[in-house]
Amino acid sequence: MTAKLLNKAPLDFASNFNTITPFEKHVIFQAKKTMLFNAKSTWCKRTDPSFEVTMGSFDGTETWTYKPYLKPNNTPLYVHKQSNHPPLIIRNIPESINRRLTNISSNETTFNTTAPVYQEALLKSGYGYHLRYKPQSPNTRQHILTKHNLQPATQNNCNCRAQTQCPLEGNCLANTIVYQATVTRHDNNKEESYIGLTENTFKTRYTAHKSSFNHKDKRNATTLSEYIWKLKDTNVEHTVKWKLISKARAYTTSSKTCNLCLEEKFFIIHKPSLATLNKRNELISSCRHRNKHLLCNYSNR
Ligand SMILES: [Zn+2]
Ligand SMILES: [Zn+2]
Repeated sequence: MTAKLLNKAPLDFASNFNTITPFEKHVIFQAKKTMLFNAKSTWCKRTDPSFEVTMGSFDGTETWTYKPYLKPNNTPLYVHKQSNHPPLIIRNIPESINRRLTNISSNETTFNTTAPVYQEALLKSGYGYHLRYKPQSPNTRQHILTKHNLQPATQNNCNCRAQTQCPLEGNCLANTIVYQATVTRHDNNKEESYIGLTENTFKTRYTAHKSSFNHKDKRNATTLSEYIWKLKDTNVEHTVKWKLISKARAYTTSSKTCNLCLEEKFFIIHKPSLATLNKRNELISSCRHRNKHLLCNYSNR
């Protein structure tokens, strides 16, 4: 992404929703310069020892790789295990290095190419710890995101006549959620998936999806309905399964962020296999949950 393009598209677009001062623009540009590559040459000052993360070739907004950056000839040095630092600190050193290296490596391969230098430094400082790529599992992440606000299926979360018939495994009344639909073709068992969000109850959203599958004039409502209609046009039998992916708060005037939209985008970017039917341009769509808080959209009822 060139500086000109960054200035044009995202910043101009964002200006429609939020005031961006020249100073803030300056900060964004400085931050970008320390992080991105352009045409295979780096934008960052790689000689800056305080800066450890280098970004790989940046491809649109979808894929990038990054790896820990260590200044050439700069060997990390750690507090020796036998030193008189508090035992708790000593104990945490290897584990925290492992965590940090994992967090700033985009995958196991980049981790493994960088780890030996740190591994050696650890050994020199008396630690027998073996550095291993240990990404936070999606389950852990989901657990963190949802443990406070996602209730297990209860009577209140479902009003289906029989809970076994519930489209969302007993959670059809859950709201402000990110959900996933998986469509399986019966002829070759091929699966496609779609990630969506709803601020209302899932049931309301589900009814709208259903209607888009049944009424030809609504076939372009979503990329999911477009796909369903493609199957229908060619008489391919199929089943659609729905799953609750996570729960997040939609925009509020006090929080000023929409975690619901961010959460949906997180899955579309980081778990593309869960969202094969989603279009990449959904990533730049604005948050409609914020729009309804804008003064011009208030109605005097
Ligand atoms: Zn239900
Ligand atoms: Zn939103």
